[in-house]
Amino acid sequence: MLYVSTRGHPDRRRFCEILLEGLAPDGGLYLPESYPRVDAATLAKWRALPYADLAFEILSLYIDDIPADDLRALCRKTYTEQVFGTREIVPLRKLEQGVFLQGLSNGPTLAFKDMAMQLLGNLFEYELARRGEELNILGATSGDTGSAAEYAMRGKKGVRVFMTSPQGRMSAFQQAQMFSLQDANIHNLAIEGVFDDCQDIVKAVSGDLAFKRKYRIGTVNSINWARLVAQVVYYFAGYFQATSSNAERVSFAVPSGNFGNICAGHVARMMGLPIARLVLATNENDVLDEFFRTGTYRVRGSQDTYETSSPSMDISKASNFERFVFDLLGRDGAKLRYLFSEELAAKGQFNLAGHIARARDQYGFVSGRSTHADRLATIRDTWERFHTVIDTHTADGLKVAREQREPGETMVVLETALPIKFAETIREALGREPDRPARFAGIEQLPRRVTVLPADASQVKQFIAAHCA
Ligand SMILES: *Cc1c(COP(=O)(O)O)cnc(C)c1O
Repeated sequence: MLYVSTRGHPDRRRFCEILLEGLAPDGGLYLPESYPRVDAATLAKWRALPYADLAFEILSLYIDDIPADDLRALCRKTYTEQVFGTREIVPLRKLEQGVFLQGLSNGPTLAFKDMAMQLLGNLFEYELARRGEELNILGATSGDTGSAAEYAMRGKKGVRVFMTSPQGRMSAFQQAQMFSLQDANIHNLAIEGVFDDCQDIVKAVSGDLAFKRKYRIGTVNSINWARLVAQVVYYFAGYFQATSSNAERVSFAVPSGNFGNICAGHVARMMGLPIARLVLATNENDVLDEFFRTGTYRVRGSQDTYETSSPSMDISKASNFERFVFDLLGRDGAKLRYLFSEELAAKGQFNLAGHIARARDQYGFVSGRSTHADRLATIRDTWERFHTVIDTHTADGLKVAREQREPGETMVVLETALPIKFAETIREALGREPDRPARFAGIEQLPRRVTVLPADASQVKQFIAAHCA
């Protein structure tokens, strides 16, 4: 399997070459040259597999430069009942006739990002050991990504994490989750500023190529192909749980921000998984809903990017979206390059209205949006009718799923976080505290390991240099 850049660069790369990289050299994103098709016999065989072995089967279609026995061992080490809480790993619950919740948030940090990040931690450790190299991961987080990365990389040989976050701006639970880690290879940097300052610091440090090379700076952001392909697995696992035969079709509703989660659904559908529709849900930051309704992709400025009660979907542009557009344009790298690096850069938007009917009819995409009032109403309704507490992001997904669902359609709503991570809104909706898994009891009182730094890239560089010995 070889990988191409969405922007038409002539080079072809193998999986382990792109594993530790971010963007392609031309600024594009990597995608496989073609999507492997899964035939009916294979699908039937996969139905019976435990999650880790299903992961191995799917990943081995995309990874041919890790020996099969090693890859199987990595999958089995990653997807265990001990780490993810259940034997199913991504258990499905029926809510009402035709509507299911698929739990993707039972991993170490209680958000779906663990599904991919836990595997990435093991892949990084494996590949770095094989090369005899080290990697220093530098990131910026406002919550879920940073904690998922830290819990995936803690204690891993050859990897250090330097995670910047805006001081005092994450939820109390999120701060406690990250700052209570005592592992020597995990460094929390609380920056005196906002999330944009953290991102600017990461850009400035990564933009200093001499520093980047000397200190082997890397990232784990959502455009990483390994993260995306790991997410493909749970669409198969959800489909098998929701159906009793491979003749049935299922739709998935996905709370979306950077388009990473739902892009994995697109890949699963391209592989031949019988997915009817992919229902994309946004919050008030509706860049993607606007695109799927009108064909206009219009990146938002910081004034038009809202802080909402489903904060992990508060985006101004969707970093993985380019992958889908590449397929929508018939994989025309030159045209894609023009849209993203010229038209978008010059005008802040582009229009593909002529392609929107195909996004729906050929690729199954429909969309909707949800507001704070919708979230409160959906959380309340789900509690009152089903005695189930859902988190704010999942509520966005469920609201749009209900709106879009057609009679007889099986709709699986992806649960992307547990409610305890966003307790304030749960209290507002229900007047009660969300349940807290026992292992997080008293986490706010644990000793903290965090360094406060001004919003200044040179001080972050000094910190990294001092902790890379
Ligand atoms: C990251 C995240 C999302 C958005 O996922 P994308 O892959 O960025 O579309 C939704 N919900 C939660 C809880 C998240 O952490």
